[in-house]
Amino acid sequence: MAKKRISVLGATGSIGKNALDVIRAGRDLFEPVLFSANSNAAALFALAAEFPNAKIAFSGRRAAAEAAGFDKRDGVYFERAGLLAAIAGVEADITLNGISGAAGLEPSLSALTSGSALALANKESMVMAGALVLKTAEQHSLPVIPVDSEHSAIFNLLRRQGKEGLKEAVLTASGGPFRTWSMDQLKNASPKDAFAHPTWNMGAKITIDSASLANKGLEVIEAARFFDLDADSIKVVIHPQSIVHSMIRMNNGAVYAQLSRPDMRLPIYDALCYPEIAPRQIEELDFDNLSLSFEKPCFERFPMLALAYDALRAGGRCAIAYNAANECAVSAFLAGKIPFTGISDVCSRVLSMDWSGEAGDLNSILESDSKARAAAGL
Ligand code: NDP
Ligand code: MG
Repeated sequence: MAKKRISVLGATGSIGKNALDVIRAGRDLFEPVLFSANSNAAALFALAAEFPNAKIAFSGRRAAAEAAGFDKRDGVYFERAGLLAAIAGVEADITLNGISGAAGLEPSLSALTSGSALALANKESMVMAGALVLKTAEQHSLPVIPVDSEHSAIFNLLRRQGKEGLKEAVLTASGGPFRTWSMDQLKNASPKDAFAHPTWNMGAKITIDSASLANKGLEVIEAARFFDLDADSIKVVIHPQSIVHSMIRMNNGAVYAQLSRPDMRLPIYDALCYPEIAPRQIEELDFDNLSLSFEKPCFERFPMLALAYDALRAGGRCAIAYNAANECAVSAFLAGKIPFTGISDVCSRVLSMDWSGEAGDLNSILESDSKARAAAGL
């Protein structure tokens, strides 16, 4: 594989750190050309020292970065506009988007319009604007490669198996820290309880989403957009060990699954190497003493999953509203303003408004996002 020029957006986060591991282990394969962060100036500085040829973009307040001595180095971009200009300017072969939340959408589009393939961890890009992202990619003849482990699994299974004869995609979910909690216990769940994720170590927002199953809800919508499937062709199954990353069921009854240790370096490495099949970089799965179990998700205790299906079925701008309301509600929960069960109350209330009518272009998508945030009223 020819050496690839890589931009890592959200380089200081959980996906970013895993990507850095992949890049360090494959210095002959990857040349980082851009790193971005939002508020963690110290970590971005350290990356700039380690990779002096890479540009860096600090999308938070310029004053904060300057106070940390940032302006004394060439190739530094500041604030949101600087981030978008940096993405467009560095001529990356591939951009890994590990930014959290709706803030990742415009960077995804900037990468594609500037001619870079997109390795997409930022699921919100697909939930808010799947059609626009895929259309932009097609216009520029560029691939969008999923990094989310479930979608990476399905993408790889379909690559090998073909989509013909596909009956449904089966997304696995660990079930999160509250898998066995009762309704009463969930009412009193604290952020600390939610942070005790059994199998994955991730950023704050996705960890809360994993506890409420909103993460799986977002992933159902993400799968619908990525693989052009309707709600009835996407199933969720709880699999607490997080070894089976997802499955495809064919019309002839066969089910194909992708298994590996729960390690985000695999889907990241796979995506960065695409279209080549990556040689092994992570530890092999050991079958000795491995037992796998599966159970049905409980839609009553985890209404965020049910609401995602409702939003997908209703269409229009419902997915944008679901994502925005959830993002506001998660922040409010983390700030101690609402209880854990309030997250789905907020989303349910926002989704009960009229979100009919498509939002096709970026401005109308961002407008609907703002409207839903205002409606959340937090
Ligand atoms: P983190 O919170 O750990 O990291 C987020 C990164 O984005 C940080 O580098 C942060 O910078 C940056 N960032 C935050 N806000 C903004 C903003 N407004 N503008 C620009 N950059 C910003 O998140 P994760 O790495 O856990 O998740 C990133 C994305 O990947 C999410 O969409 C998540 O759903 C998805 N994902 C994550 C997985 C995981 O294992 N973590 C698995 C599958 C998908 P700073 O550090 O300076 O704040
Ligand atoms: Mg996932």
